[in-house]
Formats: sequence, structure tokens, C-alpha cells
Amino acid sequence: MNLRNPTEIEACLAAGAIGDALGSHAEGSRVGWVPAEIPLEISDDTQLSLATCMSIVQRGAVDPEHLAARFAEDYQQRRYRGLGASTTKALLDLANGAHWSQSGCRGERAAGNGAAMRVAPLAFLLDPERPAERQLLSDVCRITHHNDEAYLGALSIARALRRVRCSPQHLEDALLEHLASALPDCRVRDALRALERLPLDAPLQEAAAISGTSGFVAASVPLALFAAQRAARLELGVLLRDVITLGGDTDTIAALVGQIAGAALGWGALPVEDGERIVEWSEVLETAASFARFVERRLRGSRAPS
Ligand SMILES: [Mg+2]
Repeated sequence: MNLRNPTEIEACLAAGAIGDALGSHAEGSRVGWVPAEIPLEISDDTQLSLATCMSIVQRGAVDPEHLAARFAEDYQQRRYRGLGASTTKALLDLANGAHWSQSGCRGERAAGNGAAMRVAPLAFLLDPERPAERQLLSDVCRITHHNDEAYLGALSIARALRRVRCSPQHLEDALLEHLASALPDCRVRDALRALERLPLDAPLQEAAAISGTSGFVAASVPLALFAAQRAARLELGVLLRDVITLGGDTDTIAALVGQIAGAALGWGALPVEDGERIVEWSEVLETAASFARFVERRLRGSRAPS
């Protein structure tokens, strides 16, 4: 029996899984509505995030080489569902023996959201404002995406998670301005700036018309951040369905919204009834709990007198 209360880390990962599973189901069906009796499954967004958690716990640190080996092994065992083109290319190269620093896809086609969708665990361990930790975050992104936009989108998700963690008031407190002002000139920043001009309660369709809803990192990441700002005002199950109705890369956009909402609002905000429909729900909870315990131990260790 689990006697701990789930932490915001578990809420982040579990809410992300709920968004992913609802969005994955809707992706092919072109409707945001998911019939209540249908079981749900997680996809690559959650699978790669959980694999990241497991690698960190097993290795006792964030280690790109260890993580890349874990990804390659899971890929060879055909565990991942719904992989994008860049991640597939990278995992294939890794499985064929490429070095992790060279495996990531390059060029404009590598500007997808595949690094952003799996970055959440790192936000609880690495402070991107410290150069060495930011470099490690960049290295982890580079395993699959050798592309600045893909990295800057992931960096923005990590910064957003750190800003709102246990602080729901920060969801509506100039979140997009905070993130945009920390970025160099790039398309992710342009999209954040464009969305920042919209009122917080503007219809999500209006935001989607500005950013787009595709798997391009400068579309889906800013849109997810814009939508996540309203998580404190709406039931999360309703917000996720609103986001999914926008169409496009529904699983990743909803997963990112779920992660940010979960980190800010904690376990109490989760539509657990949706979670319980996920086939892999107990695996999600166990991995998230094990990772959360690791982060707690790390934090305690760093506070211990030397
Ligand atoms: Mg997916």
C-alpha cells in the first residue's frame, strides 16, 4: 500500500500521461471526444518520459549515454508507440551503434516537439539557469533532436514546469512573457510573443490559428503553454478535451498541458477517472513514484551537511 501522498512530480507525469492517452485516441479520429467505455493507451510522449525517469533512477544521475542506450533498447524491443520521424531516425541510428551525440536528427525537419515532450523529468533535477545544467539538458535533447528550435522548445517547457511547480498563481502571471524573454530570437519565441498578446481567456481556437497545431515545436509548444495558463480556472479533464478538439498533434499538446497543470496544481486536480482507463496506469504511477522518491533523496543529499 502506498502511504505517501503523490507529489507534484507524480501529478505532472500522471497528468501528462492522461493528456497523452486522451489525445492519442483522438488523433486519428478527428474528434476531441473519447467514448467513456474505450480503454486508453499512452504513446511515445509518456513512454519516453518514463524511460527517462527509469534511466535516471537506475544510473543515479542524468546521463545522456545511459539514457540513449535505454531508448535504443526499448526501440529494438518495439516498445514505443507513435514515434515521430526525427525520433525514429535517431533511435534507429542508436540501435545501429551511433554515438548519442551524433544520433539526433538535423536540419529543419528536426524542429519537431519530440525533445519537449520528454523533457519534464529533467525540470525537477536540472536548473537551466546554471550553465552546466543547461548544457546537460541540451545534451539530452540532442539525443533525438540536433536542432536549436527543438532544444529551445524543450528548454521553455522545463522553465515553465520550474516556474509553476506548486505555484498555480504563476500560471496566469505573465508565463509566456517570462519564457519568451529568456529565449534568443527564434520561432518558438516569436510564437510565444504572438500568443502573449491574446487575452488569457481568448478562445483556444484563436490561439491555435496563430500558432498552428502541428508537431512543429514552434506550433505545439507555445500553444500548449498558452492553454496551460488557464488550468487553475477549469477542470483539467475539460481543459484537456478543449485542447484535443483543436486537432493537430493532439497527444503531445495535451500531454504538455497536463504536465504543466499537474506540476502547478498537484494530484487533487487530476481527472483520475480518465487515468484509470489507461491500460498502463499502474506502470505510470509506479515509475513516477520511484522517480519522485529519487528526486527527494537527491534534494535531501544536497542539503546534508558535509
Ligand atoms: Mg505521441
